[in-house]
Amino acid sequence: MKHVYDVIIVGAGAAGISCAQKLEQSGKDFVILEARPRIGGRVFSINEQDSTMPLELGAEFIHGAPRKTVDYLGQYEIPFYDVLDNHLVLKNSKLQKFENFFDKMGKLMKRIPAKPGFDMSVHDFIKGFKNTEPTLKSMFRSFVEGFHAADLHQMGVKGLKDTEETNGDSLNDTQMFRPMSRYDLFLKRITESLKPGRLELNTVVEEITWEPGHVKVTCRRGSSGPVTYSAKKIVLTVPVGVLKSESIRWNPKPEVLNTFLSSVNMGHVQKIIFHFHERFWENLSKEPVSFLHCGPENYFPTWWTLQPMRAPFMIAWQGGPKAWELSLRSEEERVNTALLTLSKMTRIPLRSLNRLVQCWYTHNWSEDPFARGAYSYVTVDGMKALGSLKRNIKNTIYFAGEGSMKGPSRGTVHGALLSGQLSI
Ligand SMILES: Cc1cc2nc3c(=O)[nH]c(=O)nc-3n(C[C@H](O)[C@H](O)[C@H](O)COP(=O)(O)OP(=O)(O)OC[C@H]3O[C@@H](n4cnc5c(N)ncnc54)[C@H](O)[C@@H]3O)c2cc1C
Repeated sequence: MKHVYDVIIVGAGAAGISCAQKLEQSGKDFVILEARPRIGGRVFSINEQDSTMPLELGAEFIHGAPRKTVDYLGQYEIPFYDVLDNHLVLKNSKLQKFENFFDKMGKLMKRIPAKPGFDMSVHDFIKGFKNTEPTLKSMFRSFVEGFHAADLHQMGVKGLKDTEETNGDSLNDTQMFRPMSRYDLFLKRITESLKPGRLELNTVVEEITWEPGHVKVTCRRGSSGPVTYSAKKIVLTVPVGVLKSESIRWNPKPEVLNTFLSSVNMGHVQKIIFHFHERFWENLSKEPVSFLHCGPENYFPTWWTLQPMRAPFMIAWQGGPKAWELSLRSEEERVNTALLTLSKMTRIPLRSLNRLVQCWYTHNWSEDPFARGAYSYVTVDGMKALGSLKRNIKNTIYFAGEGSMKGPSRGTVHGALLSGQLSI
């Protein structure tokens, strides 16, 4: 008789690996099916040749240092450090200091009405800012679009407010941190601690056939014919973008899936890591430079350095609809577009900047068939539907992954880790 697992986990990102660890501890018989040749999913760490310095093409920050993530880092003795919270903003063609960036953004968030049942798009909400200083208003738009990777016409303020809720679980809600090691290190360590044979890489799930208490999963592996796996239960951690693309066929499709997918969207991000020959940004301000901003009318309006580490890297960031638009352009065009904005912000001629570039690293998440975007956000009126949604269908299908979470952990590695902690 063909082997029937207790559980099949689809996806070896943070959610899948966290789930695997929990199942291993409870003695369950399971397998993780992962489409890529590597673990980590949207945690995608690389090293330059001969360098120990980690570079992150996906997740980079630990937002607020929440308990579960800190516990994992502690367990694997991975130190983490505070990101320097200095912000410069382009105003009247000059970079100027922008004090208390996160406090100011937080104050504007507080204007979201708490009325039950009420929702509106973030775009309309910002339009209503009548007496707000134009630079602050534009920074807020840029911040929400960038941080949440969202189309502000589609993102609801209720969903935005939900991400701002705090539960005292974090070291410091507004502070950002970075692990000292590659972000994927603790995920690798957890995977190494699993029994042999738990992880199948290069295994693309294409079809799920199920009835209560039984699941059959059909996969593609390389050029070989279809491979099937059977289990009593399945935990699906694939990103919202993958679920929306319908690249996985359902037999039958769970009804709640449509409700869920109409409540959330996959946001888009373009992130480019530039390795420069010198740290020219250290001359831009008397204080160490960490974040640079300009208005949302520009492409790549947010840049940061690796401060407090003095490393020759700058990261260019674009979130929201412009990120999607850029995803359709060539890599060279995206790089040139980013450098144009940096030139405008720093007033260093483009030709000189080009000479300073040693190389760059990027990954087009929007075009990646196993992500189809960066991370999820809640649409207008989406919170209502999400409120009544169950992540467990007939004790057989379980949804995990950042997109399945509510509150401030949506869209984060922490949210993914928490979502995988299922008792099944
Ligand atoms: C550019 C970028 C920057 C980010 N920055 C941060 C940050 O600073 N801090 C932060 O906390 N979060 C950040 N995030 C978000 C964070 O990376 C994600 O929320 C988190 O990693 C999601 O984990 P997950 O397990 O839910 O999904 P994933 O990591 O996407 O894991 C799902 C897995 O499913 C696999 N899969 C997909 N389809 C199939 C299939 N058909 N068959 C088999 N396997 C499949 C995928 O390959 C993937 O490995 C960022 C994301 C991006 C893209």
